[in-house]
Amino acid sequence: MAVLIDTVTDAAGRLRHPEKAHRPDQPAPPKPAWIRVKAPVSAGYRDTQRIVRENKLHTVCEEAGCPNIGECWEQKHATFMIMGDTCTRACAFCNVKTGLPGALDQTEPEHVAEATRKLGLAHVVVTSVDRDDLADGGAAHFAAVIAAIRERCPATTIEVLTPDFLRKDAAVETVVAARPDVFNHNLETVPSKYLTVRPGARYFASIRLLQRVKDIAPQMFTKSGIMVGLGEERNEILQVMDDLRAAGVDFLTIGQYLQPSRKHHPVMRFVPPEEFKTLETIAYAKGFSMVAASPLTRSSHHAGEDFARLKALRTAR
Ligand code: SF4
Repeated sequence: MAVLIDTVTDAAGRLRHPEKAHRPDQPAPPKPAWIRVKAPVSAGYRDTQRIVRENKLHTVCEEAGCPNIGECWEQKHATFMIMGDTCTRACAFCNVKTGLPGALDQTEPEHVAEATRKLGLAHVVVTSVDRDDLADGGAAHFAAVIAAIRERCPATTIEVLTPDFLRKDAAVETVVAARPDVFNHNLETVPSKYLTVRPGARYFASIRLLQRVKDIAPQMFTKSGIMVGLGEERNEILQVMDDLRAAGVDFLTIGQYLQPSRKHHPVMRFVPPEEFKTLETIAYAKGFSMVAASPLTRSSHHAGEDFARLKALRTAR
C-alpha cells in the first residue's frame, strides 16, 4: 500500500491545493501488486520522524507522500525539503502544498546540518520547494545549507535536488560554487507534457540548467529524473535520454508516477517492471554512467549507495 499524507488539507485545515479544488475528479485506477509497499511502523522510522520534528524540518518524503518512506526512514534516510513547505508552482503531479511561502528561516541551515549529524547520514539529499518569490530563487539559501553541513559533517557527501531557477540569473552559479557532490534537477516528464504536467516550467530551460552545471564544473556529478505513466510516448522518453546525454548528465532515474489525489493528473498507465528494465538497458546504451529505473525509483531513493557506485566507476576509468 502506498503511503500518502493527507492530500486534501494541511494541519491547519487549509486546502493544500486551492488551485486544483475546482478541477473535476480524475479516475484513480487501483495500484498493481508491484507498487505495494510496507507500512511505516519501525523503530527506525519513529527515530527519523523525531529528529526531523525536533529540528523543525520538512521532508519531501512526507510532503510528496513518497511510497518509499517506510523503507527509507527505517534506515534513517530522509530527504530534507528546505525553504518551507509551500511551493510557488502548481505542478499537476505534485503533492507539495501550493501558495505564497513565508520568509526564509535563517536558522534552517544549522538545523539541517544538525539533523544530518543526528541521523548519521553518509550522504544527504537536500531539495526545496520552488521559490519564484525570491530574487535568487533561494540559491544563496541552498549554498548556506551546503556550507553548514560541510562544517558540521565534513565526511558527509551532499546531493542537491534543485528547482529550475527559471529567470533567476546566476542562481545555478551560486549553488555550484558551494560545491555539492551531486547536482540533481529533475525534468519530471517529456516536453509534450510540460503544459499540462509542469506548466510553470520550460523543458529547455531545465536542460540548459543541467548543461550549465557541467560547463562550470565538469567534474561535478549531474543527475536528472523523469516519471512515466503520465501519458508519454516511448519515443519521447528516448528523446529525453538523448537531450540529457547532450547536456552531459551522468545519472538518470526513472520511476512510476503515482497520483497524490483525485484532483491531480491521472495515472495514464502503470508501467510494468520489465519495461523499466528495457528503459534502463537503453539508457546505459546511450551513455549514462548510472541508471536507476523501476516502479518505485525516486531520485533520492538509495541515493547514497548510487553515489558511491558512481564515484567508484569514475575512479576506475
Ligand atoms: S525515496 Fe527519497 S523522498 Fe522517498 S522516502 Fe526515500 S528519501 Fe524520502
